[in-house]
Amino acid sequence: MKEHSFTSLHTMGQQQDRRSWAEPYKIKAVEPLHLTTREQRGKALAEAGYNTFLLPSRDVYIDLLTDSGTNAMSDRQWAGLMLGDEAYAGSENFYHLEETVRECYGYEYLVPTHQGRGAENILSSVLIKPGDHVPGNMYFTTTRFHQERNGATFHDVIVDEAHDTSSLFEFKGNVDLDKLQRLIDEVGADKIPYVCVAATVNMAGGQPISMANLRAVRELTARHGIPIYLDATRAMENALFISEREDGYLGKPIAEILKEFCSYTDGATMSGKKDPIVNIGGWLSTNDREVFEEARNLVVVYEGLHTYGGMAGRDMEAMAIGIREALNDDYMKSRVGQVRYLGLLLEQWDIPFVKPVGGHGIFLDARGFYPHLDQEQFPAQMLAAQLYLDSGIRSMERGIVSAGRDTVTGEHHHPKLELVRLTIPRRVYTQAHMDVVAESVKACFDQRASVPGLAMTYEPKYLRFFQARFEPLPT
Ligand SMILES: *Cc1c(COP(=O)(O)O)cnc(C)c1O
Repeated sequence: MKEHSFTSLHTMGQQQDRRSWAEPYKIKAVEPLHLTTREQRGKALAEAGYNTFLLPSRDVYIDLLTDSGTNAMSDRQWAGLMLGDEAYAGSENFYHLEETVRECYGYEYLVPTHQGRGAENILSSVLIKPGDHVPGNMYFTTTRFHQERNGATFHDVIVDEAHDTSSLFEFKGNVDLDKLQRLIDEVGADKIPYVCVAATVNMAGGQPISMANLRAVRELTARHGIPIYLDATRAMENALFISEREDGYLGKPIAEILKEFCSYTDGATMSGKKDPIVNIGGWLSTNDREVFEEARNLVVVYEGLHTYGGMAGRDMEAMAIGIREALNDDYMKSRVGQVRYLGLLLEQWDIPFVKPVGGHGIFLDARGFYPHLDQEQFPAQMLAAQLYLDSGIRSMERGIVSAGRDTVTGEHHHPKLELVRLTIPRRVYTQAHMDVVAESVKACFDQRASVPGLAMTYEPKYLRFFQARFEPLPT
């Protein structure tokens, strides 16, 4: 076991002053957790077809399935709900949200949507023609789905380091400019309606992209007249990494960094369920008046009127307040600091996971746990199941199941990364919960040799990871 003093665990991220940090908020309301026995969990797991998405939350103890919409709102946000203006058209809360996005992200026009994928659907329908190509710094499940459904082929142009769990590169979310240039040369700029840049990159483990890289992507694409749309879901977390790692930005307020970052893009899709610390909501924003007009036409078909887009007035209010709260540097340090704390605990026991630790979770390397399993025996799916069985902690597969099948050949995509994601909801769990999580991961690691693979017994047609069912293979 590597030695980490108590102090070093509590001060990581702030090594310069050797004093502990703590969350810049305190608890006002609590929600009881559900404790279960191993026997109950075994039964629940079998009923859920070994898919953690299919577990009822009443059977879950610490829920790290996702940081999406699982956030704890502040007293201000709850108070904001009472300010909900539920007018069908022209809600006061829409104007508040629009102004907040304009000030904090810098985008001119806002189209609210029910959540991130609503924005992706609209953006993809507006910009993509059949036969187009969309490059991105690694795919995201719903994003790529909407791109492909509108007739585009997705191209991963992320740097190679992103696919290497042992690389310690600090900006694994970066776009590989050569890969992007090669694609432009190959298919032609007129076949590339936009470059889709995500920050941080969820599927790479919450890895950031640097300001310098985005600026370079901007310069390259501008030469070819290709716009950039940002997946801004966790762009504030990305801003924190830039403030910690990038020359010229060290110690700068994340609010300033975010605004400059967005200035290199033409607009963004957003899941309000992540950075903005709410439970539902999203938006599409753009600086392009024509794209805005088109998107505003489509939003009334798929989401709702252009001043609510599937959200209640109160939801828009809570999101506007949450955006400002999330742009607080102390808050963001504690958010990412909690994830790092969990990472440090796991590192002590040499547990294989993606490093450097990203913004929103720990991504366990299932291949490192179960080298005896073939990827088509779904090692990450099994590791998530084992973790639940051990302690009632719920995590999620991010490997071959999530990657789905090739739309042309029908074969499984075989992603290099076969991961289990322990995602940390914002402001929900304490450091003691992180201790419990780390100990359970360690228990699974100690028992790794005897674990069998899985067979898929039911496979849905779209986004299969949500509802697929599995059975353990005979040992
Ligand atoms: C969650 C997420 C989305 C989709 O947003 P929803 O609100 O879940 O529809 C898109 N991109 C990234 C990077 C995400 O994490």
